[in-house]
Amino acid sequence: MSLSCPHQKLCGGCQMLALPYPEQLARKQAQMQRLFGKLCPVRPILGMDDPAHYRCKVQAAVGTVNGRTVTGLYQPSSHRLVPVEHCWLEDERAAAVFATARQLMDRLRLPAYNDVTHTGLVRHLLVRVGKYTGEVMLVVVTGSAIFPARAQFVAGMRAAHPELTTIVQSVNGRRTSMVLGDRFRTLYGPGYIRDKLCGCEFLISPASFYQVNPAQTQRLYTAALEMAGLTGTETVIDAYCGTGTIGIIAAKKAGQVLGVELNRSAVQDAQKNARLNHIQNIRFVCDDAGRFMTRMAAEGQRADLVLMDPPRQGSSPEFLRALQKLKPRTIVYISCGPDTQRRDAEWLCAHGWRALQAQPVDLFPFTDHCENILLFAGK
Ligand code: SAH
Repeated sequence: MSLSCPHQKLCGGCQMLALPYPEQLARKQAQMQRLFGKLCPVRPILGMDDPAHYRCKVQAAVGTVNGRTVTGLYQPSSHRLVPVEHCWLEDERAAAVFATARQLMDRLRLPAYNDVTHTGLVRHLLVRVGKYTGEVMLVVVTGSAIFPARAQFVAGMRAAHPELTTIVQSVNGRRTSMVLGDRFRTLYGPGYIRDKLCGCEFLISPASFYQVNPAQTQRLYTAALEMAGLTGTETVIDAYCGTGTIGIIAAKKAGQVLGVELNRSAVQDAQKNARLNHIQNIRFVCDDAGRFMTRMAAEGQRADLVLMDPPRQGSSPEFLRALQKLKPRTIVYISCGPDTQRRDAEWLCAHGWRALQAQPVDLFPFTDHCENILLFAGK
C-alpha cells in the first residue's frame, strides 16, 4: 500500500510517500550497502511494523484565512499559509490539539500573528507527545509576552484534552523563521513531559533535543549497545550526548560513563535525567567533543568504548585525531548523516581501526533520511 498527501509538493517532507513501505526499506538498504558494503557487512535495516504517525514532535504555523484561524505550512518564500489538517508522519494527538486551539482562538478572538505587519499574537503551535507515558505538551509561541484571555484558553484546552499535562508559552518577538523564542512561561503543569526509552525515564522540555521517533529510537539504542558488548566494567564516553539518553541507558551495563555535549541546556537536562533514573556512575561535561577528547588524551586518560552520535555534519578532524590518541578498544558511531559517516569511517579505517558491522535503522519512514550504526574495533 502506498500513501498520498495533497500537500506533498509544498511540504517536501516525505520524499518516499508514494512508495510502499517495504520498497522504501529496500532502497535505504541498497543505499547503505553502496556506502558501507566495501568497509564491512551491512545488516538488514530495522524497519517499523506500522510506520504511519511516528513523529512525537509536531509544529504548525498559525495564520488567518477568510477570517478564521488556520494551522499549516507557509508556501516557500511567501506569506501565504496553506491549512494542513492531516499528516502521515505526525502523532494524531497533535492534529486534535491544533483543531481545539484554532476553535478557541476564534471564540476568544485571539489573533494569529501576521508576519507581514508583525501584529497579532499566536505565531506557532508545537505539540510534544511522550509516546510511552501518554503525556502531551502544548507550546503556544507568541509574538509578545502579553497573552489576553490566557486563563480561558488554558481552561478550554484542558477541558477538551485531558491528555495535556502541560501548557507552555514561548515568546518569540524576533523576525525569524525559528519557531521557539528563548523565553518560556509555564501556563499549566510542570513545563515538561516525560517519556520512557529502554526502561529509563527522560524529561523533555519545550526546546530539548529528543529523537522524534521513540519506537525506533529504542531499537537504535538497543542495537548500538548490543554491538558495544558492555560487560559492566568499562569506561565509556558518550560523545555528542544530547540529554544523556543513550549514556544513561549504557550506564546500567558499564563501569562509568562520561557524557560530553556542547549545548548547555541539554547538559542540564542530562544531569536531571541521570538523577531521575538514580544513575550515579555517569557525569556530564559541557564542551566541544573534539576539544574535550583532545584534553583527555593529553592527560593520559583512557576509555574502553566511545559512543558517538554527532549531528549531520559528522565529526571533526580534531575529534578523530583525539580518538586515535585515546585508542578505545571499541567505537560505536551512530549517525543520521550516512555520507559524512562514511567520510569519517574511511579516515578511521586508514588510522588504526577496522569497521566490523553496519546496522541501518529506519528512524524516518517516508523520508529519504536513514540512521546508521557502525561498529569499529582497534586493529
Ligand atoms: N545522542 C543524543 C543526541 C544526538 S544529536 C540522542 O540520541 O538523543 C547530536 C548532539 O550533538 C546535539 O545534542 C548537539 O547539541 C550536539 N553537538 C553538536 N556539535 C557538538 C560538538 N562540537 N561537541 C559536542 N556536542 C555537539
